[in-house]
Amino acid sequence: MKIVDALLDMNTSPTSELAARYRADFPILNLKVNDKPLVYLDNAASSQMPQSVIDRLIRYQTTQHANIHRAVHYLSEIATREYETARRTLQHFINAREDREIIFTSGTTDAINLVMHGYGRKFIQSGDEIILTNLEHHSNIVPWQMLAEEKGATIRVVPINDAGELLVDEYEKLFNPRTRFVALTHVSNALGTINPIKSMIAFAHQQGVPVLIDGAQAAPHMKVDVQDLDCDFYAFSGHKLCGPTGIGILYGKAKLLESMQPFKGGGDMIASVTFEKTTYNTIPYKFEAGTPPIAAAIGFGAAIEYLSKIGLDAIAAYEHELLNYATEQIITIPGVHIIGNTRTKVAVLSFIIDGVHPHDVGTLLNQEGIAVRTGHHCAQPIMQRFKIPATSRASFAFYNTKAEINTLVEGIHSIQKVFS
Ligand code: PLP
Repeated sequence: MKIVDALLDMNTSPTSELAARYRADFPILNLKVNDKPLVYLDNAASSQMPQSVIDRLIRYQTTQHANIHRAVHYLSEIATREYETARRTLQHFINAREDREIIFTSGTTDAINLVMHGYGRKFIQSGDEIILTNLEHHSNIVPWQMLAEEKGATIRVVPINDAGELLVDEYEKLFNPRTRFVALTHVSNALGTINPIKSMIAFAHQQGVPVLIDGAQAAPHMKVDVQDLDCDFYAFSGHKLCGPTGIGILYGKAKLLESMQPFKGGGDMIASVTFEKTTYNTIPYKFEAGTPPIAAAIGFGAAIEYLSKIGLDAIAAYEHELLNYATEQIITIPGVHIIGNTRTKVAVLSFIIDGVHPHDVGTLLNQEGIAVRTGHHCAQPIMQRFKIPATSRASFAFYNTKAEINTLVEGIHSIQKVFS
């Protein structure tokens, strides 16, 4: 744990101790890559898994596995209980009113597609309008485009300023009597911008329009209270919150979920089936057709318990400290530009280096053991807005250290030397 020791030597503020305390929980962070200690700064793509979640998955697979909801035998009862316990853990994590408002999906993308099919295809008609923003991930653009194409509806887009912030006045101007739905991200994955979603949701509701929030990049970094936000739908993925891949949730207000048509048909989502007619199960099961990813849901629950013990407020405070530290260092390097340099953001830094393609930045940093993401980050409209093909993105988690940021900064200096 050399990196942590170095951090403790250089900085003993209480929040810095967060990484020192929890980093050892993540076995993968001990890896060496290209003979260098791994510096994992690709947390916006996927965060790493603590030992407690790995252990929980092993315990499930070795002593609790069976199919759920379908049998009275011992293992099926245990698996069902653990799966439903995970649902309640998620419910409390985002302060949903009822556990039936939590639907397990395979991730954020799946959750948004569920709303597009279940709500959009039923309630959005030809000539209707859907509001998105310039900050959306493709997962919150493409499903709505598919719907618009099918129905003859129109997509309207909230623009952003040069700091990567939504122009809220323009958002309000987009509403008209044909506006039927708003889908917007809580936090931009490419820039880190935190959007003022509470007031935007309130404005949409004044016009009688429901709002879906893509919370994929917010839920790992801040406390989310869906009742306080009053959003109609909220979606996020387990693998960005120290959990497994293949699992996520859709939160939806019970009344809305009940009014929607199912997205997928099959086992478990039915009340009764004849060849003449099928009646559907109650929520949440109406939206969980087939055998769900039971192990992943239980692992997701364990990850939420782990994060809740640390506390989202403590995580947010420490990650903010990391962000400030990294910003101060990177912004002063000549020839390096941070894209969308807003101050209201989570710990994500998207940057470009003059004269060096981001793909080369990623490749050279990897030689130093540093993992960053390069490319358009599944957010091509943001790249188009800034007239760039791609960026390099460093995204931090609570287990990252300032020493790792120093390594990143040294890596950037070395790249500039190679290309000078
Ligand atoms: N929305 C945002 C803002 C994201 O950052 C991501 C993933 O990076 C997604 C949606 C899609 O998440 P998933 O691939 O887990 O479905």
